[in-house]
Parts: sequence; C-alpha cells; structure tokens
Amino acid sequence: MMLLDILKEKCPNCHQGQVFDERNSWSLIKMPKMNRNCLHCDHRFEKEPGFFFGAMFVSYGLCIIESALAFLLYLILPVSEEYLIYFLLLPILLFWPFNFRKSRLVWMHLV
Ligand SMILES: [Zn+2]
Repeated sequence: MMLLDILKEKCPNCHQGQVFDERNSWSLIKMPKMNRNCLHCDHRFEKEPGFFFGAMFVSYGLCIIESALAFLLYLILPVSEEYLIYFLLLPILLFWPFNFRKSRLVWMHLV
C-alpha cells in the first residue's frame, strides 16, 4: 500500500490526494511543484520547516542506485573508459525530477 502510494504520488494520510500538482515526473526544465496541503483531506505535507531535509538522504540513495546500474551498463557495453564519466553523470542529470519527487514521497511516508 505504501509503495503504491509512493509510486502514484498519493497523500500519506488519506491515500487519495495528489502530492504534486502535475503527474509528469520527467520534466527536466520545470521544477516540480508540490501542493502545500492535500487537496482531499487538507493534510499538511511539510510538517515543520526543514522537514524535507531528510529527503536529501533518500535522494542520495536513489542516485547511488542509479549510478550503480549505469556502471553495470557500462561494464556490459563495449565502450572505452573515457566515456565512464558520462555513464555516471547522465543518470543524475536525467533522473533529478524523479529523484526529487520520489525522495520527498518516501520521506513523507516514512516519517
Ligand atoms: Zn490527503
């Protein structure tokens, strides 16, 4: 249930309302905008100032996993060593909106 709520970006309180105002997780240009309160149950997402500081650690973990997977891809593909930096940086640049959203959702659901 909690995993589904995180994937669907639902409120941790009522499991109905959307946390973000848009469903597109992959816009690389636009910063994801989070609703202040749940539109369904009025639950306040940011419990206190600095609440989402801990989400940075979740985001860091996601970056490590993504970079490790990219490194495995690098090992499988026949490319030279000079491209390794691109394999490690590209996931961080491409997945930042996904990581931003999911890390906040994981943090909200855990704390
Ligand atoms: Zn709610």
